[in-house]
Amino acid sequence: MKCELCGAQAAVTKKTTKNFGRGASLVVIEDIPTIHCTNCHESYVTADTAREIDRIRKNRSGRDDRKGDGSLFVTWSANDSCRRPK
Ligand SMILES: [Zn+2]
Repeated sequence: MKCELCGAQAAVTKKTTKNFGRGASLVVIEDIPTIHCTNCHESYVTADTAREIDRIRKNRSGRDDRKGDGSLFVTWSANDSCRRPK
């Protein structure tokens, strides 16, 4: 696919896990679709993905409080219709 930054047809999407915040406000999101460019060596998320990350961080209630300390684990694919078992 085309890289949004350098325009080369050298970008691929990879799934990465990112941590946001810390302690009780920690949010871990697994399998975020992140774009990696093999030409300019940048990695970034699309505007849509960034918006969804914001939405997840703001909508913490009712999520899987796996560790019981207020931190949050979310698998990206669980946010759309293709929910899948772990
Ligand atoms: Zn690039």
